[in-house]
Amino acid sequence: MNDAAPESTLPYPPIHKDKKFVVLSDWDGTITTYDSNDYMTDNLGFGRDRRRDLNMEILHEKTTFRDGFREMLASVVANGHSFEECKEILRKNIKLDPGFKEFYAWCKANDIPVIIVSSGMTPTIRAVLTNLVGEESANEIEIISNDVELRPDGTWGIKFRHPTSGFGHDKSQAILPYRDLEHPPTLFFFGDGVSDMSAAKHADVLFVKEKEYGENDLAAYCTKLGIKHILFKDFSNALPIVQSVVKGEKTVQEALNIGHA
Ligand SMILES: [Mg+2]
Repeated sequence: MNDAAPESTLPYPPIHKDKKFVVLSDWDGTITTYDSNDYMTDNLGFGRDRRRDLNMEILHEKTTFRDGFREMLASVVANGHSFEECKEILRKNIKLDPGFKEFYAWCKANDIPVIIVSSGMTPTIRAVLTNLVGEESANEIEIISNDVELRPDGTWGIKFRHPTSGFGHDKSQAILPYRDLEHPPTLFFFGDGVSDMSAAKHADVLFVKEKEYGENDLAAYCTKLGIKHILFKDFSNALPIVQSVVKGEKTVQEALNIGHA
């Protein structure tokens, strides 16, 4: 399956070769309560209706995530919003999942790397993360994401990690190298939306976030494809399940059978 690996325009951090467990998580709408790119599109760009239409086209594979997402962000730029302005607005408005800090602290204390795997842009993620968890944790959490292209005329656009992939950032490429290790770790993946479709089938234990506002796109995708997953409301519900697998009280299969955290 690696033969079709798209070329990455951005570097990867080294993989964690000697760990028994690794957590990979989507950022927007998973570690945060609201997707920052949706927030920008809905409030500064062409609005929620058009954005949801595009989400549905992506979910039903009528358009690619890459092209749909580029269009959403372009609508923000077309309305005259600079990247710095967007970063500030996101810092002020994006909030952390209420259980994430404790989840992260437990993982850190138990030598389990937590890696953010995002289709968002590194500078906005860092800005929001620093605001939410403080500079120290923000700097130690690895981020594998897309980037921004700042143009001389003051406009900006997304710089995709995998421009030749319809996913823009094919998240499976952050997971698959772990499969080739002599002693592969158990991989937990957390996600919520269409940007996670590339990762969904490659984790050992997939957690899918339930959204209060009803945009359960990843859950719909997994149900359609029969991909086993555990629905969770926030990281405080997910933590006991992760702990039970790490402590050997539950197998991966038993954890997946829970279905709903
Ligand atoms: Mg998301």
